[in-house]
Amino acid sequence: MEPQLSSSSPRVVILGAGITGLAAAYELHKRAARDRRKLEIVVLEASNRVGGKVMTETKDGVVFELGPDSFITAKPDALALVRELGLSGELVKTNESQKTIYVLSHGKLEPLPEGMTLLPSRVLPFLTTRLLSWKAKLRLALEPFIPAAREELDESLGSFVRRRLGREALEKIAAPMLAGIYAGDPEQMSLQSTFPQLKELELSGGIFKGMRAAAQRPKPSSELTMFMTLRGGLSRLVEALAHQLPGGTVRTGANVLSLKRRGSEWQVATKDAVFSADAVISALPANALAAVASDLDFELSCVLNEIPFVTTATVSLVYERAGFPDPLDGFGFIVPRAEGRAVTAATYTSTKFPERVAQGQVMVRCFMGGAGREETVAADEAGLSRTARKELAEILRLGETHPKFSRSQRWEKANPQYNVGHALRLKRIASCLQGHPGLYLSGCSYEGVGLPDCIRSGREAAAQAYRRILARGSAQASARQS
Ligand SMILES: Cc1cc2nc3c(=O)[nH]c(=O)nc-3n(C[C@H](O)[C@H](O)[C@H](O)COP(=O)(O)OP(=O)(O)OC[C@H]3O[C@@H](n4cnc5c(N)ncnc54)[C@H](O)[C@@H]3O)c2cc1C
Repeated sequence: MEPQLSSSSPRVVILGAGITGLAAAYELHKRAARDRRKLEIVVLEASNRVGGKVMTETKDGVVFELGPDSFITAKPDALALVRELGLSGELVKTNESQKTIYVLSHGKLEPLPEGMTLLPSRVLPFLTTRLLSWKAKLRLALEPFIPAAREELDESLGSFVRRRLGREALEKIAAPMLAGIYAGDPEQMSLQSTFPQLKELELSGGIFKGMRAAAQRPKPSSELTMFMTLRGGLSRLVEALAHQLPGGTVRTGANVLSLKRRGSEWQVATKDAVFSADAVISALPANALAAVASDLDFELSCVLNEIPFVTTATVSLVYERAGFPDPLDGFGFIVPRAEGRAVTAATYTSTKFPERVAQGQVMVRCFMGGAGREETVAADEAGLSRTARKELAEILRLGETHPKFSRSQRWEKANPQYNVGHALRLKRIASCLQGHPGLYLSGCSYEGVGLPDCIRSGREAAAQAYRRILARGSAQASARQS
């Protein structure tokens, strides 16, 4: 019989100590401290470390990011948290002097046309690129004249880009650029749930017009670049968050097995204990929560299981700079599916973030796997590294130049897919949750996979849970008085 761990003060149990769970715990702790309220926060984490997919390793002066390597600053939540935690001095900008992105085309790296961020903003540079055929360029140039589709249907990203820019632009540019962020299949991905801003561009006069206007908008600050990171790696953010919490808040090695409700009280069971709670915040990926919640609510568990997850891998390769045959003069390259490679993209880490490597070294980080390409990451770490080394040697024409060392990480069913129908699934989840007051869902599976979205969702869930704690406190106080 597991010990029943009850608490004299209100208690919130958070499931999972990835960036989402830690952000939720931090927000709760901050609110309770501000109001001088007693609140016990317990974070249950199955593995023996905090951070989830945020995983930095440092070896001989090289910083390896095995999961995310930076965060976007246009969404404010990651940057705001970095500042709040006093880490501003550790912020690192991308090297803006060399930000070309290349595309592998018939085995050769060709630069993306100028004016291209996520999608093109100017027609002219596309007319001179060797990436597209003349037919494709003409098709692309028609974009401003294509009327907007006004139906409310949830369209796939592939269908949208093909409709606006043509098939070749989709396959050679948009699919590896846009779908790559989600490790997704553009024919399955929901436009509405992944890039709703593209639909807005279409409705307000077209992609070229909208992207041009966005490019001309003044930059918010010269202190910022579109993507930023922390000098010691993103694990610094996770460590700083954990450091803010009272000792004993985070319990590692605590695999949550089930979630139950007894009246208005929640019970969260691990192998060793059952924690009672006034509110529960799940910061687990949907596939993990589906298993935990199966006895609580079969319908909820089924919808959570409908959100697909795919397996990906990162392989970071470090070489001697002297004699390295490629200038690595850009942020990296993307690989369209038609090239038939296991590597889907690569970041020239030592160019994008020069402080990531020691003097005299270069680092390239390869991405593999994703929707429709999961068989390419079935190998163990050594196998992944072999494939990445071989393909990189061919793409960058490295000849006999071999890496000094490498670090691979496989992410098993870790990337949630926001496929067509995702918004509807979220509505069904919300409807199930109405029957479970005090249970809040947050994290990468629902409304954004990037770090800023995860941080926002964790903090929002914490704010909701905290409001419930306050309301229950007031109700109990008035019951005592009457
Ligand atoms: C290879 C890769 C590269 C990426 N690159 C970027 C990038 O550059 N920028 C960016 O913004 N985003 C990037 N992302 C996305 C981003 O890293 C993730 O979406 C985000 O880190 C997810 O955080 P999370 O806390 O929601 O989930 P997770 O990090 O998955 O955390 C969930 C936690 O729950 C724990 N857990 C699971 N089951 C249980 C259980 N039953 N009981 C207790 N604990 C459990 C897990 O061990 C884990 O620690 C990348 C993702 C990957 C995989």
